[in-house]
Amino acid sequence: MAEQSTSNVTVGIMPNGTSSSPLVTRSRFWFDDGNIVLQAESTQFKLHRSVLASQSPVFRDIFSIPQPTDSNEATVDGCPVVHLQDSEEDIENLCGLLYDTLRIHTFKKKMELSHIGTMLRLGRKYRFKHFRSEALHLLEHEFPSDLAESDANAADYQYIASTTGILFEVAYLAHENCIKSVLPGVYVLICLNHSPQAMKEGFDLHREKYGHFLRTEEPLSCLLGREHIHRAVSQKTLAWLYDGSIPCSKCVNVAACNLARTNHVLDIMKRSIQSAIRFFADTWLQNKLSAGLCTSCSGVAMYAYNTAREEVWHSLPEYFGLNAPIWDGDDVDDEEEKEDMD
Ligand SMILES: [Zn+2]
Repeated sequence: MAEQSTSNVTVGIMPNGTSSSPLVTRSRFWFDDGNIVLQAESTQFKLHRSVLASQSPVFRDIFSIPQPTDSNEATVDGCPVVHLQDSEEDIENLCGLLYDTLRIHTFKKKMELSHIGTMLRLGRKYRFKHFRSEALHLLEHEFPSDLAESDANAADYQYIASTTGILFEVAYLAHENCIKSVLPGVYVLICLNHSPQAMKEGFDLHREKYGHFLRTEEPLSCLLGREHIHRAVSQKTLAWLYDGSIPCSKCVNVAACNLARTNHVLDIMKRSIQSAIRFFADTWLQNKLSAGLCTSCSGVAMYAYNTAREEVWHSLPEYFGLNAPIWDGDDVDDEEEKEDMD
């Protein structure tokens, strides 16, 4: 196989007769007027060079390599064949994103996570315009790094189609594509919605495909983070229950506020870890923490709760072991992406 390399992408031009075998299938993306055939795994796609080149400088470079004129070199349906190292799922998704944009991204239909994965993966590898920034925007909207934005999010995802195990897949995508910003929010949701056993099963489900991308040891890091949050609930977000703040100096019913305090403590003692960490993850109102407290005590306690919650939120990357140096210096080259968009 003759090989030419451009921008870390290896293009193989197969000798006559080996580019197409009985096992090779044609994708539904097979345009009669296409002028290039891409092959990923055992699937071929007949596409347009101009479409790919206009969106990706890497494909532009690949197509600028003089194509063989020797009749011994293989062509399929009159087109040169470019062999890619990517999965056929990624190239199928890529064609959908380039040719079926309205079907994939409409206001009625949420986007499949696999398309977001393709946008991140191929956006980076082939420097497709806007792919990576759009995918990041969607993920960061659903899993914000800001506590107020996270509180404002609805129960369901706004842009991404929800599927079983989606949180674990997002976690793997974040590890694969070095998107540390979304992981604290994703891990908190995993901790809130899964028992330790379910957590293990969730990570195991995609481990074969994505496991080698993990930068932390899962599910251990997730479980350790859960323990840290649980400790932070008793030591920080609910410290006002025992640190002398309540009853406050302006309390109008000391006996009632003391009783409310006791009831909250009893409630917390009965909870599992998974349930108790809601005293960090949920807002003051969601946890109904005003119940039984006079207005003054409620105000004092709410301020303490909200302040501690912010503090714990900022500690999440540390709790989940995400501050390791392995995350540094591997992010998208913003300057390069900006240049490509000009
Ligand atoms: Zn009071």
